[in-house]
Amino acid sequence: MIVTKKVWFFIFLNISLLIAGCADDQYYSLEDYASVSKADVHIHIRTHRNSFVEQALKDNFSLVNIVVDGAGTWEGVRNQFKYVKMQHENHPDAFRMITAVSVEDFHEPGWTEKSIAWLDSCFDQGAIGVKFWKNIGMVLKDTNGTNVMLDDARFDPIFDHIISRNKLVVGHLGEPYNCWLPLDEMTTNNDRSYFEEHPQYHMYNHPELPSYQDQIQARNRRLDKNPNLKFTAAHMASIEWNVDSLGAWFDKYPDATIDLAARMGQVFYQTQQDRERVRNFFLKYHNRITYATDLGDRGGNDADQMAAELHDVWMRDWTYFVTDQTMESDLVNGPFQGLKLPKEAVDGIFFNTAKRVFGF
Ligand SMILES: [Zn+2]
Repeated sequence: MIVTKKVWFFIFLNISLLIAGCADDQYYSLEDYASVSKADVHIHIRTHRNSFVEQALKDNFSLVNIVVDGAGTWEGVRNQFKYVKMQHENHPDAFRMITAVSVEDFHEPGWTEKSIAWLDSCFDQGAIGVKFWKNIGMVLKDTNGTNVMLDDARFDPIFDHIISRNKLVVGHLGEPYNCWLPLDEMTTNNDRSYFEEHPQYHMYNHPELPSYQDQIQARNRRLDKNPNLKFTAAHMASIEWNVDSLGAWFDKYPDATIDLAARMGQVFYQTQQDRERVRNFFLKYHNRITYATDLGDRGGNDADQMAAELHDVWMRDWTYFVTDQTMESDLVNGPFQGLKLPKEAVDGIFFNTAKRVFGF
């Protein structure tokens, strides 16, 4: 058969259309936002009203509601769990529950038994995991005045028990690297304003306290001690400042996952520096990364405004991951360009990893 120029042209045209069709099919658009299943795996709802979850259902988000030993008291932990459970009972399919222990009476006899009994009661009520917070490593003092770190042997029975119950640990250990820098050298505006308002946590002012490396190493030594622990590291494992270092950590702990909660500013900042590097990181590790915001609701403020702000943040991040639009955010100074990841990576970050880790 003689293939004429005209026939070649039609073959070429058809192949081109096929490729163009596939290429379109490979990406989500802004319009797909509400139809794609998503999860925000790090939120804090401490109110009886349902405004947060109602917005989440509209936006097709499942949620992980987390208790944290923020006040450093059992009363604080119990009170938060009460709200977490209430929210869960109202919308059992929308929520997963993470509880916490308090280190309030860490030095009292019986703390271990009390903590284990509390965890068991939470697990029996449906909690799927336990959050460990930065107060371990940064606030809790030993009897000799040094900081108690996460790998301390006194936590061993608690971790052993969590492993024996096959529950998950959500670990927020350490802080962003910015915490050890002066305010004017910090890379994101949200870190700058947080540490300006919370100087007690601004470690640049406290060189006598454990360093950034001390915090990261204590967390890693806990993982080395408990290789069977199901562990997800909140806030990009506190290695938010460099995607290559975070990739190396993923390679060292092949079962560990992270959430992006309250660290999108760090992602945007690195995107300004080197978009391809950040894009390759998400392409490679999307099955280790969960989307999260750290937003919450404590009641008191205007419910509609709270829901609108929530939607705006979720939409901002959807836009960043699915399009290549030039964007701006008050988290960083100057513009950055969206990553336009293929569907597989977007699904990994927004839902599939969360489904695996939190059991949606
Ligand atoms: Zn949080």
